[in-house]
Amino acid sequence: MEASSRLELEQAHAELWNLTFSYLKSMVLECAVQLNIPNVIHNFGGSASLPNILSAIPVPEHRRPYLPRLMRFLVVSGILSFDSPTLGEGMYQLTPLSRLLVDDTHINGCGSLGPFVLSQTTKYHVSSTTYLSEWFKGEDGVGPMAAEMPFKMAHGTGPWGALGRDPQFNKVFNAGLGSNSRLVLDFVVAQYGDVFDGISSLLDVGGGDGSTARAIAKAFSHVKCSVLDLPIVIADIQPGDGLVDYIAGDMFSSIPPTDAIVLKYVLHDWNDDDCVKILDQCKKAIRSCKPAGGKVIIIDTVVGSPLKEMFEAQVTSDLLMMVIAGGKERDKQEWHKIFMESGFKDYKIRPVLGYLSIIELYL
Ligand code: SAH
Repeated sequence: MEASSRLELEQAHAELWNLTFSYLKSMVLECAVQLNIPNVIHNFGGSASLPNILSAIPVPEHRRPYLPRLMRFLVVSGILSFDSPTLGEGMYQLTPLSRLLVDDTHINGCGSLGPFVLSQTTKYHVSSTTYLSEWFKGEDGVGPMAAEMPFKMAHGTGPWGALGRDPQFNKVFNAGLGSNSRLVLDFVVAQYGDVFDGISSLLDVGGGDGSTARAIAKAFSHVKCSVLDLPIVIADIQPGDGLVDYIAGDMFSSIPPTDAIVLKYVLHDWNDDDCVKILDQCKKAIRSCKPAGGKVIIIDTVVGSPLKEMFEAQVTSDLLMMVIAGGKERDKQEWHKIFMESGFKDYKIRPVLGYLSIIELYL
């Protein structure tokens, strides 16, 4: 064998090894959040030794000898950095990635995305992915009994049914998406305030724990914000300060009249026919309130970023939607198709945060 092809084979073998075990990366990230490691390092001033970390994490004596190996993996994965190559010695530091997992808003502007990590690495998510090949082979049968997505093969119901069945999953899921909303809305509010000009009422449909609506209400006091979500999600929201109103309902049946509707990470959960049904309800709600100047504000992925990492995030999210919800991430042409089918006349797409876009949809 030639030296170059031998090197290529060795590299390919190592890559295959790393890819085969890459699920460990997700679970180690989840573990780091559960053990509160990013906050502990932050509390030590952004740089902490192993004894520092051990003094502040919930790991009993007999498990402590294992920790250096977890820490080394966190460093190799880019979640932390380390200033000494010796196992177990030196100082661990936060990286730009793990700064996003720190509670202190002075560090990242939005609070920790740790809850987001926990909300997407649940046993529901992880076990669903193990059904992917069986689902592709159609081993769940054909016709009305076939599962729309691997999630349903694994759990006998879709994600919203699972939220209704399991109060803990409901809590973790909504809190996680809420933490991500705070980051996204920081960018939306700073970059795209013009979107909310001329609007006096706004309804965040499928708005989860209300983080998005709250951020809009705080930034634009002329907009009265409300959230519509499933009864199980709304029932879990603590009575708050009255900044936003919460409405329990079903977006497929009826959406109350409003000047503007936000659909953030909602349409990607659904197939094209369901998206058209949702947009049709949105149209009715806006038309009865503000026939001229009303709009739907979609915050979602538009697949096709020219940047490799952003494109990877978009494609990963697309696969997640296929596994979890039976939905998809759409490119420009796919969005265009559902907008035209649901009878909207015009739209404008602008980028937020690299992998995400804000789309204004007009009647
Ligand atoms: N907009 C939030 C949540 C997105 S997840 C965010 O950006 O983080 C999708 C949301 O749609 C969930 O909160 C889910 O409970 C809600 N949902 C699903 N089916 C719904 C329905 N039929 N009517 C209203 N909300 C629904």
